[in-house]
Amino acid sequence: MSRVQSHPIIIVGGGPAGLATALHLARRAPALAQNLLLLEAQTYPRPKLCGGGITVHGEEQLARLGIRAAVPSFSVNRLVFRLGRREFAVTHPAAMRVIQRSEFDAALARAVIARGLAVHTGERLLDAIATPTGIELHTSHGQYHARVVIAADGANSVVRRKLRFTSEDGVARLLRVLSPVNPQQEPIWQTRTAVFDFSCIEQGIQGYAWDFPCYVDGEPCMNRGIFDSRIAARAPLPHGTLKHTFGDWLAERDIDLAQAQLEGHPVRWFQREAEIARPHVLLAGDAAGVDALFAEGISYAMEYGEVIAESVCAAFTRQDFSFTDYRPRLLRHRLGRLLLRRAALARALYRHRYPPLWGLFWRLAHYSPRPVQRAIGAWLAVLPGTRPGTDGQSPAAVPGESWT
Ligand SMILES: Cc1cc2nc3c(=O)[nH]c(=O)nc-3n(C[C@H](O)[C@H](O)[C@H](O)COP(=O)(O)OP(=O)(O)OC[C@H]3O[C@@H](n4cnc5c(N)ncnc54)[C@H](O)[C@@H]3O)c2cc1C
Repeated sequence: MSRVQSHPIIIVGGGPAGLATALHLARRAPALAQNLLLLEAQTYPRPKLCGGGITVHGEEQLARLGIRAAVPSFSVNRLVFRLGRREFAVTHPAAMRVIQRSEFDAALARAVIARGLAVHTGERLLDAIATPTGIELHTSHGQYHARVVIAADGANSVVRRKLRFTSEDGVARLLRVLSPVNPQQEPIWQTRTAVFDFSCIEQGIQGYAWDFPCYVDGEPCMNRGIFDSRIAARAPLPHGTLKHTFGDWLAERDIDLAQAQLEGHPVRWFQREAEIARPHVLLAGDAAGVDALFAEGISYAMEYGEVIAESVCAAFTRQDFSFTDYRPRLLRHRLGRLLLRRAALARALYRHRYPPLWGLFWRLAHYSPRPVQRAIGAWLAVLPGTRPGTDGQSPAAVPGESWT
């Protein structure tokens, strides 16, 4: 049997949550970070099913890490929110940028490795067992013991499953199709628009369908998908069939679902009461729960890294690894406030109990003056705030650095 290696901190999963946690620890506690280990099952660049939309909230997280995203992207200047025949548009320069996750995550991983931190790629976690002094991890390559394990291994988290964390509900379903596009013939490409179409709520889907222009390996494409949060257990409409609704929506865009390459993956959304920590274990990103309103997860996963770094530093200072402070710390942090705010809005909207009210809201949003639209956008961290420190604010004070 191979020797058991000991590390103070092991991060399982090298997506935005795991990589941002490593980077925050490197900034906050460089000595501690030098001995951490990050385990990633795949090798970079690795595929990750996603819409690839990075909002201003995501840019803010990158700035906090002192990182500039020099990866190919499509910059969106106009966000359209549709409900049936009603829609309202919000324009803002670089309101969102659409990236390829394989490139984005690989660039984040390069930044982690450039700081001298240990990353084992191609090493999959197979089992996790709690011991009185920490967690024993069994991987495809060997055995480890860690004082602290950070589970950043996504919506289907193995750490979560093996340690039998509770609250298995709160899982959304998403489907996606990529298709090549002729930019000259696609108006939303020409106008640099991203569409969020909530019309599927009327078919019993508790989410929206998206239309994002993007580049895939340099070729113009459309990234289209549908998100069903399943947040409202007792909604007045019977639950719709996701694939069927998506197929109809794609047909309106001249895409035959039977001919398209359909892919699906879950996203876990955050619930106030969900179990997110145990002695010696913290959950992050999709393993803990992200945004229930838009299934936005990249920025939230990265922000988890900041809260986790605070909790881990406090634990090593006090030599108390119970992590009973993690939930209150998260709920006090802007991350927790935003997650709860978006979940409350998702519950209200996707329950679809008062359809005329939402029609009225869409009309009001359409006719609202720009400062009002901006204030609501900033409150939801979809647009930058107007004052430093407000939600959605990009802290320009943090210097960026190139990844490539
Ligand atoms: C179809 C779809 C569209 C989406 N669109 C958007 C969008 O446009 N914008 C947005 O912000 N969010 C979007 N999201 C959500 C976003 O993709 C996730 O919230 C985000 O990736 C969460 O990051 P994470 O680091 O927690 O997990 P992940 O990105 O899933 O990373 C987990 C990592 O852990 C690794 N791993 C898994 N198991 C193991 C194991 N046993 N051992 C070792 N490593 C392991 C994986 O290989 C992976 O690298 C979308 C999600 C889906 C499914």
